[in-house]
Amino acid sequence: MAARSQSRNESALSALPSIDDLLRSETGSKLKDVAGRSRLTELARRVVDELRHELKNGKAISWKTRSDMLSEAESRLTSVWQDSLSMGLRRVINATGVVIHTNLGRAPLSQAAKSALLEVSGYCSVEYDIATGERGRRGARVEAMACELTGAEDALVVNNCAAAAYLVLSVFAFDSEVIISRGELVEIGGEFRVPDVLSRSGATLKEVGTTNRTKIADYEKSITDKTAMILKVHPSNYRIVGFTAAPSLTELSELAKRKNILLYEDAGSGAVADLGSLGLADEPVIGGSIRAGADIVTFSGDKLLGGPQSGIIVGKSEYIERLRKDPLYRALRVSKLIYAALEATLESHLRGNAIGEIPVLKMLAATAGELESRCRILIQSLDNSNLSTEMIRGNSAVGGGAAPMVQPETALIVLKHSQLSASELERKLRTSKIPVIARIVDDRVTIDLRTVSESEIEDLASALQEV
Ligand SMILES: *Cc1c(COP(=O)(O)O)cnc(C)c1O
Repeated sequence: MAARSQSRNESALSALPSIDDLLRSETGSKLKDVAGRSRLTELARRVVDELRHELKNGKAISWKTRSDMLSEAESRLTSVWQDSLSMGLRRVINATGVVIHTNLGRAPLSQAAKSALLEVSGYCSVEYDIATGERGRRGARVEAMACELTGAEDALVVNNCAAAAYLVLSVFAFDSEVIISRGELVEIGGEFRVPDVLSRSGATLKEVGTTNRTKIADYEKSITDKTAMILKVHPSNYRIVGFTAAPSLTELSELAKRKNILLYEDAGSGAVADLGSLGLADEPVIGGSIRAGADIVTFSGDKLLGGPQSGIIVGKSEYIERLRKDPLYRALRVSKLIYAALEATLESHLRGNAIGEIPVLKMLAATAGELESRCRILIQSLDNSNLSTEMIRGNSAVGGGAAPMVQPETALIVLKHSQLSASELERKLRTSKIPVIARIVDDRVTIDLRTVSESEIEDLASALQEV
């Protein structure tokens, strides 16, 4: 058998298209414009080599004629090109119900933030003062807005909250001791570990208290003349519950003042207004930390703030000014695109309409009842598809290392396909033209519309109809 298929393949080998044939084919000509000639030549070479290899190794084939062989090569060329594209950034529909989904880009931007990005993508006044025609200070407006929102004296923006922590610790705690409670030596996904950041910035970590209980006296006892600061870290992605104790920020601030050291809080997600109405009463409000006497507070721009990836540092002017003058800040600063998107995001918060305008907050505010009505509309549009649906109650998640205990009640659509298994269906959705990321729960594919915006429903419906 093997010998016969090999001899048949011998004749097929002579029908193998050349790289040139493939480039001149309909597919080749179409892709040449998008991919560029030399890149496509490389891909065509790969496809032809692969076919030759298969033929030489006696693989059973159904494409034997010259034209069969060419169509097989064309279809493979399309796939390798698409594979190379899918490794790049693609828009996806997040149907997981995890609102701040780190792997899917955390906070989706508001309409205003998206327009602002586009607006400044050409030349813009990033370091130019239009009123005087002289050099202006990058980020001045965003910094002023961050102060307005938090009541801080000054503010600074860097690449993310990890960069913010690194900058603060490097500038103020290099070669000195930093006191932190054992219960706060946390790892926030994505390789951000508090002890590692501390040691990389040249600070020496001094742990106090126990995992569940730390008292103000524990802090006081460990302060020496080498101590630069007390660090308070918000345990973003986990909670210690039960027999616990920790001094308030006010108590820590009094102690820090008395001992003439700094009090720095890494609030992580944080919130710029009380989000109790969304069930997020547990997140530190940045303005509250400033009022309680923290000298410096850092938080992420793309968690509950709902803006672009960034780290915001607020606090007393004398400290923020030192950070601004440090050469490390120059390496961690953000681009005009980030300032533009952040400015628009902060504007929504300042207008007092964040829940109406900021996608993350809007999504968290949606009730199970509202989501149920949205599900019904989507389900109706699937009447003639291969899918059967069932609506059940379930829970969404905040995600992004914020509020791990908050799981907003939601409506889920359970999808069943007439032929495909759950994992095949999940894969099919993930690889559709606009990838739909669903969740498998109890071996069933479920989608949660909490994280699907109104403008995406149509694309979601098409993807579902096409499977
Ligand atoms: C999320 C988080 C960070 C890291 O923030 P990035 O913006 O992702 O760099 C740091 N500290 C805390 C407490 C966090 O929750």
